[in-house]
Amino acid sequence: MQAAIISVGTELTTGQVVDTNAAWLAGELTQRGVQVVEHITVADDVERLANVIRRTLHESASKLMVVTGGLGPTKDDVTREAVAAAIGQPLEESTEALAQIEDFFLRLQRRMSAVDRVQAMIPRGATILPNRRGTAPGIGWIRDNGYLFALPGVPSEMKAMFVESVLPLLEGVTDKTRTLEARLHCFGIGEAKLGERLADLMNRGRNPLIGTTASGAVVTVRILATACDEAEAKSKLAADVAEVRRRLGSAVFGDAEDRLQEATARLLVRERKTVAVAESCTGGLLASSLTDVPGSSAYFLRGYVAYADQAKIDLLGVSEAMIASEGAVSEAVARAMAVGCRDASGADLALSITGIAGPSGGIPPEKPVGLVYIGLVDSTGVQVKRFLFGEHLSRDQVRDRSCKAALNLLRLRLLEGGAA
Ligand code: ATP
Ligand code: MG
Repeated sequence: MQAAIISVGTELTTGQVVDTNAAWLAGELTQRGVQVVEHITVADDVERLANVIRRTLHESASKLMVVTGGLGPTKDDVTREAVAAAIGQPLEESTEALAQIEDFFLRLQRRMSAVDRVQAMIPRGATILPNRRGTAPGIGWIRDNGYLFALPGVPSEMKAMFVESVLPLLEGVTDKTRTLEARLHCFGIGEAKLGERLADLMNRGRNPLIGTTASGAVVTVRILATACDEAEAKSKLAADVAEVRRRLGSAVFGDAEDRLQEATARLLVRERKTVAVAESCTGGLLASSLTDVPGSSAYFLRGYVAYADQAKIDLLGVSEAMIASEGAVSEAVARAMAVGCRDASGADLALSITGIAGPSGGIPPEKPVGLVYIGLVDSTGVQVKRFLFGEHLSRDQVRDRSCKAALNLLRLRLLEGGAA
């Protein structure tokens, strides 16, 4: 079945409020095998809205229409009238709806005002959808040729009414089809290489459908599994998630809303390790991301922002001669910063970052903008990696990539279990 979602409100058409109702409803319907083919946003204008509803009802292929917003008691709430006009039924006061509204006010020990009464006006022959969280009942119009539901605009009221009243009425028309989604986030692997490893799984028309997106050097694999019921969709999804994880190995750092810092934090907690950081070009960003995660006091000891050469000398014991001969952005200094940081903090692991974030300050070809050294030290030794992020990246991007690369280095070390 195809569906249209209609969002009503001048606050939406003028861009003052972002339409989250349509996105939420689209997700819920898609999951249940309904094809959402139209999103329409209409201002608080009764004629315009009535026309849109009429057109969708009679001319479009959509057999299900969900309207949100404009059901309240004020003059700018025009949905009731527009629905009545579109289906050609008069508005009548419903004793059932009135009783629900009165009951709502009674429970809140508030007096119902005369204007609230208008919310009991329902098109003749329509179904009343109770509203437990607000005053305005929803309206259902269920006929052989289609379904029309008008729900309140307030997201919490709309969601509750959709789940409690609309879904049961759709039972039987929505097949039991379910589409479930999983997202796996990867780092340290390019989208093209990842695509090669998953090539046969990414064929269009395959179920589950697998695609990738990249943002800020994180590549996300999105898996959409459709099946005739929820249990089968879950098992299809789980099988592909396992296969993708197997093929990508440690490149996968997390799923759902995970960021690298959450993934790294989990491992630090699991391995019972502490960490300290010494940063130059990232100016504290790495410490900030590690402490973004609730509970970070379990593993994060301290961070040094050793920006000036003298700070590297004073705080981390980097030798002045080394800075003079190798330069502050060098493998040797990254190593010395990491070692100095671990010694001073007593942490199990220490990370260091020194680089050229740009846009100026690069000395190509040896030391271009985007050159970053990241050091990692634990009781087994020191590792320094050189990164060339590229001069095309902005200062923010170089700093962001540096942090992520450092977190990833730490994550991989913890995964090896080699940290002692
Ligand atoms: P009420 O009884 O509160 O007046 P209503 O059904 O008339 O409910 P609206 O007046 O259209 O709903 O919207 C109430 C509030 O809900 C808006 O101010 C807005 O903040 C929010 N809202 C409405 N529509 C949406 C939407 N599509 N997405 C996100 N928020 C919305
Ligand atoms: Mg309103």
